[in-house]
Amino acid sequence: MLCSGFNVVGFNWISSPAATELESIVLDWMGKMLKLPSSFLFSGTGGGVLHGSTCEAAVCVLAAARDKALKELGGWKNITKLVVYASDQTHFTFQKAAKLVGIPPSNFRLIETSFSTGFSLSPENLRFAIEDDIKSGLVPLFLCATIGTTPSGAVDSIAELGKVAMEFKLWLHIDAAYAGSGCICPEVRHYLDEVELANSISMNPHKWFLTNMDCCCLWIKEPKLLVDSLSTDPEILRNNASKSKAVVDYKDWQIALSRRFKALKLWVVIRQHGLANLMYHIRSDIAMAKRFEALVGEDERFEIVVPRKFALVCFRLKPKVEEEDLNRKLVEAIMQC
Ligand code: PLP
Repeated sequence: MLCSGFNVVGFNWISSPAATELESIVLDWMGKMLKLPSSFLFSGTGGGVLHGSTCEAAVCVLAAARDKALKELGGWKNITKLVVYASDQTHFTFQKAAKLVGIPPSNFRLIETSFSTGFSLSPENLRFAIEDDIKSGLVPLFLCATIGTTPSGAVDSIAELGKVAMEFKLWLHIDAAYAGSGCICPEVRHYLDEVELANSISMNPHKWFLTNMDCCCLWIKEPKLLVDSLSTDPEILRNNASKSKAVVDYKDWQIALSRRFKALKLWVVIRQHGLANLMYHIRSDIAMAKRFEALVGEDERFEIVVPRKFALVCFRLKPKVEEEDLNRKLVEAIMQC
C-alpha cells in the first residue's frame, strides 16, 4: 500500500533520491545477510538493483555480457557466434532471455543432467560442450548455474563450474531465485560457497522471503558493464547529479525507464521481521519439509525421487508398469483439492 500510495517515479537518482538510496541500502543489507563478498556490494566495488523478476534480471545480465563480448570481438556481426550454457534443469526463462538479446536459439546449450549427479550440471560435460563449440569457431559467452532448480531443487557446484567459466572467460551468473533466501541461514549458506567466482547473482525475495510480488535482487560485480549496455541519455533526463557520475541512476540498470518503489517493501520485510525471525521462517519451512519427507519415506506406496535440500520435497507414487499415468493422475487429483 505504501509503495503504491507514494507513487514514486524513481527512474533516476534526481527524480527520487530517497527511493534510489533506499534501494542501494537494502541491496547491501540483503547481500550481507547472504554473506556475499564485498565485490557484489555498494560498500565494496559492486552493486545491486531490484528487478520485477528473474527473467528481467537475466535479460539485463545477458545484454551486459553480450555487449562486453561483442566489443572485444569487433562488433555486432559476431552475435551469431556467441553461445550460452545452462543445464536441462535451468529455468526456461534463461532461454527466453538469451533469445531476447539476440542469441540464436541454436546457440543455447542445454546440457543434460542425470539422477547420478543429483540433476546438477556436470563440469566435465560443460567443458566438452565448450570445447566442441570452440572447435566449430563459436565463442562461449555465458553460463547460468542454479542454486535450487525449479524441477527438483538441484544445486550446481559454483566452485567447479566457476573454474571452467574462468578458464574459458565465460560470464557466470548464479540463479538462486528460490533457494537464495534459504542462504541467510549459516547451515544452508555453503551452497553459495565460492560465489566470488561469479559475475552476477540473482534471487527472488518474492519466493521465500515473505515479500510481495514483484521483487528480484540482482547483484553484479561490475555495474559499469550493465550501465554501458543499458544506459540512455536523452536531453529531457539530463541533470547535474547524473553528470557527476556520483549517483546511481537505476534506469540504466534495467529494461524500463519507469520503476516502482520496490525497495520500500523489502525494507519493511527486513525491518519488520529482522534477521532472526527470517531465519526462523526458513528453518521452520525446512523442518516441515523434513518431516513430510520422513512421512513419505515411511509409506511404501511412495518414493522420494531426489534427496531434499531445501523445503521442496520431490516424491511420487511408486510407478507400476500397468499404470503409467499414475503420478499424473495424482497431480491432477491434488490440483482439484
Ligand atoms: N529461476 C528459478 C530457479 C525459479 O524457480 C524461477 C521461478 O520459479 C525463476 C527463475 C523465474 O523467476 P521469475 O518468475 O521471477 O522470472
